[in-house]
Amino acid sequence: MSLNSKMSSQPGKVLLVGAGPGDAELLTLKALKAIESADVIFYDQLVSQEIRALFPKSTPAIYVGKVKNHHSVAQTDLNQMLVEHAKRGLNVCRIKGGDPFVFGRGGEELLTLRQAGCDAEVIPGITAASGCTTAADIPLTHRGVAQGCTFVTGHGEKDLNLNWQALANLSHTLVFYMGVSKAEHIQTQLLQAGMSGHTPAAFIENGCRKNQRVVTTTVGELFQTGQEHGVQSPALIVVGEVVLMAQQLQDLVSQQSTGQPESLSA
Ligand code: SAH
Repeated sequence: MSLNSKMSSQPGKVLLVGAGPGDAELLTLKALKAIESADVIFYDQLVSQEIRALFPKSTPAIYVGKVKNHHSVAQTDLNQMLVEHAKRGLNVCRIKGGDPFVFGRGGEELLTLRQAGCDAEVIPGITAASGCTTAADIPLTHRGVAQGCTFVTGHGEKDLNLNWQALANLSHTLVFYMGVSKAEHIQTQLLQAGMSGHTPAAFIENGCRKNQRVVTTTVGELFQTGQEHGVQSPALIVVGEVVLMAQQLQDLVSQQSTGQPESLSA
């Protein structure tokens, strides 16, 4: 059905939907309902193929993600497109990877929509830092190991304007989004700010997807490891002692499958 035939005199509603990190089974029921009931869907590159396959064939789906490192549609134009479609009476599903409010520019979209008087709502999604670490057996927090976690963006116009001193001294889990191309900078800054080079670190590439890859290393070897393994976006960089838990947890699985006795220490 064409969009014109769906236009109505009543304004439509815009749902800013979090798609989670990639596994379609990690979509919320609300997200799935929003996909199924939309008149038009706007999606970006972090919405996995598996989730795109759930878009109804009859619903127009418009790609607004990146093309060769450039946004195919400028954010301000996209904001206006959402407003216009809602004003034409269409129910819009604007779906993006993870959670719309975590490094997702969902706040800007919601502001524009509400300023324009549109009915708009956000549907939370599992953010990559949570979904990908958990799927990789790395607990973001663990009693006696990490009492907190901090989500950090590795993306900056020029240099990252971060308080490295504070980050290096938190002694808890750090998760860098969009950090792969900034791995060298992240390593240098954390070391200069006093973090030990032996601090465990991991890249999680394509987390929660069939091709998920976890590469463990240390802060001192972060950049080199990323290069050697050819880590590609989308990937997270996780820094902290919790990274070592993954090995411990996976060893238990191998022991069980080889029939060795389980030894669960408290
Ligand atoms: N709103 C999203 C984040 C968008 S920023 C969220 O809440 O998850 C884009 C960055 O998210 C990527 O560069 C990468 O660092 C991270 N990311 C998103 N999906 C990922 C995945 N499946 N595996 C690893 N990293 C992912």
